[in-house]
Amino acid sequence: MAEGQLKQGIAAGRLAPGQYTANFTDLHPPLTQHEAVVEADRCYFCYDAPCMQACPTSIDIPLFIRQIATGNPLGAAKTIFDQNILGGMCARVCPTETLCEEVCVREVAEGKPVQIGRLQRYATDEAMNRNKQFYERSGSTGRRIAVVGAGPAGLAAAHRLAIYGHDVTIFEAKPKPGGLNEYGIAAYKATDDFAQAEVDYVTDVGGIAIDYDKALGRDFSLDELTANFDAVFLGMGLAGVNALRAEGEEAFGVHDAVDFIAQLRQSNDLSQLPIGRRVVVIGGGMTAIDAAIQSKLLGAEQVTICYRRGKEHMNASEFEQDLAAAKGVSIRHWLQPRRVITEGGAVRGIEVEYTQLVDERLVGTGMTETLEADQVFKAIGQSFESAPLNGSGDAIETEGGRIKVDSEGRTSHLKVWAGGDCVSDAREDLTVAAVAAGRDAAESINRALTSNGRA
Ligand SMILES: Cc1cc2nc3c(=O)[nH]c(=O)nc-3n(C[C@H](O)[C@H](O)[C@H](O)COP(=O)(O)OP(=O)(O)OC[C@H]3O[C@@H](n4cnc5c(N)ncnc54)[C@H](O)[C@@H]3O)c2cc1C
Ligand code: SF4
Repeated sequence: MAEGQLKQGIAAGRLAPGQYTANFTDLHPPLTQHEAVVEADRCYFCYDAPCMQACPTSIDIPLFIRQIATGNPLGAAKTIFDQNILGGMCARVCPTETLCEEVCVREVAEGKPVQIGRLQRYATDEAMNRNKQFYERSGSTGRRIAVVGAGPAGLAAAHRLAIYGHDVTIFEAKPKPGGLNEYGIAAYKATDDFAQAEVDYVTDVGGIAIDYDKALGRDFSLDELTANFDAVFLGMGLAGVNALRAEGEEAFGVHDAVDFIAQLRQSNDLSQLPIGRRVVVIGGGMTAIDAAIQSKLLGAEQVTICYRRGKEHMNASEFEQDLAAAKGVSIRHWLQPRRVITEGGAVRGIEVEYTQLVDERLVGTGMTETLEADQVFKAIGQSFESAPLNGSGDAIETEGGRIKVDSEGRTSHLKVWAGGDCVSDAREDLTVAAVAAGRDAAESINRALTSNGRA
């Protein structure tokens, strides 16, 4: 460890060796068969099921729950995968408390929803553990499709296109597939290398090749892709990070929260990961919560989230906020960063300013406070990096800083579709929304390729 890190209270190995495994175990352990059947029996199998309408991938939830209740978990898994081939990961990471479970009639009537997420996990685990494949590819169409990015959007698109008999090549900038499933999701939500197991399961259908360490804009251009392939799907996510815009943010000890989480997710030995004694996280979304909780689990003594608006404005769900509080994270509201305080180039604290709403506009009050910190994580949102698209003959139109698409995921370029976090109409930056977008764009590409459409 660097001398600077020791000086400023950033250190590895804060916990006893066995404590790391205990801290990072599965957040929601799997249901046993008996538990799953008992839970499935709580479902009313509602007509016009509100849970199904709240699911971005429109999984037939009452049907799969009925299949579990009647002892047919593999049938349940097929019902899920028909709509969402990454149903295993979504079962682990979906904020169900703001989606299907929020509107479950059992939640509305009794404050205790059917545990749809855990039931989904039970069924998909059954299929994946037995490597039960439900889909066979149609005969080859001879059409070739390039997918940029092996995240949830790219994988969902690739799987659906492969089933239709198209040959898919995914170009992935990183050495591993999965996108944020592999590099971003909190470690306690996707244990036992689940992200990689899921990629293997999805690509087992055949017809999908993944070309690693190949980045659009660095190793090839969009023009080359459109010249060499029949259609292109862009599922590049958000590679940029918003700046704090606070003085001193380049100091040693100020990190991007997404990089910190990626490092954590790729670590083989969490006891080697340095963490501050006092950590401040700036932000109010899932990334902020995940960075804060995982700092605490790594042994940080004091972890504080500062969010510039009120509790009700936070993007992180109530459940996530409660989870952070339960792990000992303190969440403070109406505070914005002003200045990182340094000593010898390293973080010593952060000056924050109280904020308020005036005529619906957020303004600083001028009142400040200094929080001691040896590490500051920036979790104030990510942005789309359009540079990789530069230089293509037919420019891809953007809107609000992301790729502009229509309701089918078509961009302004006749041969190019896009979906997931990188597009402007992304309803929410969620894994399940990216899967829906990839799947729907694949349907659109298939229609275009098989009906003499525009591609
Ligand atoms: C820290 C964090 C925690 C999150 N936690 C949750 C959660 O608990 N639940 C939830 O539902 N959502 C969560 N999300 C959001 C969710 O992860 C994303 O919405 C989802 O991953 C988006 O999928 P995607 O395929 O659009 O993009 P990504 O998952 O970002 O995948 C994009 C892929 O494209 C690749 N790529 C990028 N540029 C290029 C290029 N030029 N050439 C080739 N490849 C490229 C990237 O390497 C990556 O593999 C979280 C996000 C973050 C940042
Ligand atoms: S809303 Fe709840 S009770 Fe009704 S079908 Fe969905 S899970 Fe079952």
